[in-house]
Amino acid sequence: MFELWTDAVRSIEPLVKPAHRELWLRPIECLGIDDGRIRLRAPNRYHKEWFEDNFLSSILGDIQTRTQRSFTVEFEIAEDDGPGCRTKKEPTVGHPRPPSPAAPVSVRTPDLVDRYTFDKFVVGPTNQFAHAAARMVAETPASRWNPLFIYGGVGLGKTHLLHAIGHEIHRQHPEWLVSFITCERFVTDFIGSMMHQKRSSGGSSMEEFRARYRTAPDVLLVDDIQFLSNKDSSQDEFFHTFNVLHYAHKQIVLTSDKLPAELPGVEDRLRSRFTWGLIAEVETPDLETRVAILKRKSESEGVDLPDEVALYLAAHIKTNVRELEGALLRLAARASFQGQPISVELARDALAKLIASASTGLTIEAVQREVAAYFDVKLHDLKGPKRHRAVAHPRMVAMYLARKLTKMSYPEIGSRFGGKDHSTVISAVRKIERLCTEDPSVRSVVSTLESHLRQP
Ligand code: ADP
Ligand code: MG
Repeated sequence: MFELWTDAVRSIEPLVKPAHRELWLRPIECLGIDDGRIRLRAPNRYHKEWFEDNFLSSILGDIQTRTQRSFTVEFEIAEDDGPGCRTKKEPTVGHPRPPSPAAPVSVRTPDLVDRYTFDKFVVGPTNQFAHAAARMVAETPASRWNPLFIYGGVGLGKTHLLHAIGHEIHRQHPEWLVSFITCERFVTDFIGSMMHQKRSSGGSSMEEFRARYRTAPDVLLVDDIQFLSNKDSSQDEFFHTFNVLHYAHKQIVLTSDKLPAELPGVEDRLRSRFTWGLIAEVETPDLETRVAILKRKSESEGVDLPDEVALYLAAHIKTNVRELEGALLRLAARASFQGQPISVELARDALAKLIASASTGLTIEAVQREVAAYFDVKLHDLKGPKRHRAVAHPRMVAMYLARKLTKMSYPEIGSRFGGKDHSTVISAVRKIERLCTEDPSVRSVVSTLESHLRQP
């Protein structure tokens, strides 16, 4: 009888993205089928609802066609199973709390920004998966997806989702310590403790540091993990922090502007840990979502934003939600200052400069031309196979800038350089990133080129 279920699930799998299969289908357990009843078990309520809304009817359809009879479905929720169930952690009794350090460090829930909650997050096709994954982790921390790694470009809602997870876990488990930190904070804190250790030999600062990050948290949320790049001793410390928490079944959530494999100057052993759980990408929202974000924001700010103005802004500011919000607030300020209602004219006028820069969609050709001219190499050689340094270096710079300034993927960039492999592009980008930190002359060339390209 179980096969009936497994086969039906298999029948819809080709229609479901692999990541969604992992996230939504696999965790649903079939407990039995009898008397026209199918008994299922879901990890939590949210999962059950999502599954019902999105998959159940197709699966049932398949079963009913094959058996020619109808079934009812009953759900059990794993987290209702009470004590002993791994998905619901007991309050952390007997949990060794660190001695509270003199100045309380930002590892407590109050560090979460109030408005970064799930209900303020507008879901669209490009962030739906990341949003769902974040909801899952917040509902059932440390059960399956650990760590959750949220990645994507600047201003697309990574920090917002990270805080939302923190709020939700805190709401459901007020007794837990939800530690939110930026990676930068972790690094400075760590360096501070090391220096303290050196100055006052035997000082307890490193112990405090470890208590704070390894022992205390029930959940660790780290924003902008790419900040660990090229910081060897901090990486080492983070590696151990990660291991201790992961081993103790504490949920870890990380955000990053790059995929683990693309993080420059991060050790392999750490990169591989980042892929242990689930990786979820946030991408630039589509037009409808951008409009919805503007409407939501204007409501919460009490700004009267006509639909055509929302559409105008959303059509012109495409890549970054933070800029979109900034534009709205600036426009609202201008309107109230001039005592006028918000209109398309006012928007056009107020945002002329911003819109001009946001809509200059840089092409890879522009990048290649600029770089070739600067280094005085032929465009044809820049894109060709020659390997000597006089062209190889400019080529790497061009690949780096293409990646940074256009929205193109590594394979796309490779194909525009005479069909090079994506791994060639990745290593070029990493190399230039490294040179930029190590070699001031490279850094200045790259930033000159970049600023030329940004303001044509
Ligand atoms: P990131 O960390 O990816 O750079 P943030 O999380 O800081 O981006 O988001 C930038 C701003 O845009 C924040 O004010 C955030 O609330 C808002 N924002 C981003 N995505 C959404 C969304 N889907 N719905 C509502 N607001 C969003
Ligand atoms: Mg952020």
